[in-house]
Amino acid sequence: MKSKKSMVTELNQEIREILIEEGAEDIYKCFQCGKCTSICPWFQIEVFDFPAYTFSLKTAMGDMAASEDKFELEAEIDMIYRCVGCEACTDQCPHGISTPNILRAARRLLVDFGSYPDTLKSVVQKIHSDANPLGEPREKRADWANGLEIPSFSADLEFLYFTCCLTAYDPRMQKLSKATSFLLKKAGISFGILGEKESCCGEAIRRIGSESIFQEVSKANISNFENYLVKKVIVSSPHCYSTFKNEYPEFGAEIEVSHITEILFDSIERGTIIPNKEFNKKVVYHDPCDLGRKNNIYDEPRNVLKSIPGLELLEVEDFNRNLSVCCGAGSGGLWMEWDKDERIVNVRLKQLLETGADVIAVACPYCLQMFEETLKSMNSNVLVMDVTEILLESL
Ligand code: SF4
Ligand code: SF4
Repeated sequence: MKSKKSMVTELNQEIREILIEEGAEDIYKCFQCGKCTSICPWFQIEVFDFPAYTFSLKTAMGDMAASEDKFELEAEIDMIYRCVGCEACTDQCPHGISTPNILRAARRLLVDFGSYPDTLKSVVQKIHSDANPLGEPREKRADWANGLEIPSFSADLEFLYFTCCLTAYDPRMQKLSKATSFLLKKAGISFGILGEKESCCGEAIRRIGSESIFQEVSKANISNFENYLVKKVIVSSPHCYSTFKNEYPEFGAEIEVSHITEILFDSIERGTIIPNKEFNKKVVYHDPCDLGRKNNIYDEPRNVLKSIPGLELLEVEDFNRNLSVCCGAGSGGLWMEWDKDERIVNVRLKQLLETGADVIAVACPYCLQMFEETLKSMNSNVLVMDVTEILLESL
């Protein structure tokens, strides 16, 4: 009897073998049921066809990132970099196949050949040279903390607060790191920061496909943690959370990671934070992919919001928790420029706005940036606030 592998028509065996080596080993488990395509956020974009179910078969045929025709290859690169790594497909696949890992294998190949979007090349280069994707100087990484009397991390402090590049540098996002540090102090938690010694976690570059630089960055971070005797880390970004918790251990990291919403809910339960001021608004919570689907943290941010007097918590019917739709920023999407009617953020915002909420609550700086910038361009009065900002207003 023929093996399943030999039943697949081979177009380019060498490409197929490289892609399998780069992480696409699940391709032979796919039976082309199409469930991944119907759950993919691109399925809700009417003007763009993104048949996720075909990627396994194409890879098995060696027909991914393989064209020698310039225009065909450009079209293929565009397709490969449309995936926002939301894992909605993996969550629903009957065989647990990770389509983003298959596409990431193709990305790794494209990165090796230098054939990937210029905007993402710039992100990789900035993280490599400046330790952040914004190209900001390292010396300014702790400017957000000026005047807040936050100690530099030392081994006698329980937690390291790792800010994330956006909350460290971006003036709007700095409100999150400021709110976080205020809340941690209020809860009596002993913590410090690394300041200019903190470097990007590297999540984005791994998703973009730049594996060797990711490994360099992650090993440097791990060695930094070891030198400072860091054991427990609190993060603002679900992307840092996923990377530290699920990916750094493969390079020897031994740290306990908590998302800020876990710490805050615990503090509320212990009574060290008591929300007592009314926040009389309708609030809809958006589950970030990296916190919810990828790490099963659904209840803590909701429980923080539910503990706030006056707040009415709403849900996006049918599209919440593991069925939440990505904001479009993952896997490099934050920096990609797709046509206005091809933007995943519009799909998600429509769902969130239809709830009638006054405020969209998020627990991820990427989601905040995507929603806020898009709402500004729509002249909407709906606010986007991080859970930390809402909690702060209730104290
Ligand atoms: S849901 Fe899984 S098995 Fe079905 S087509 Fe997609 S990857 Fe293949
Ligand atoms: S990870 Fe998300 S965007 Fe990528 S193929 Fe799966 S469902 Fe689509």
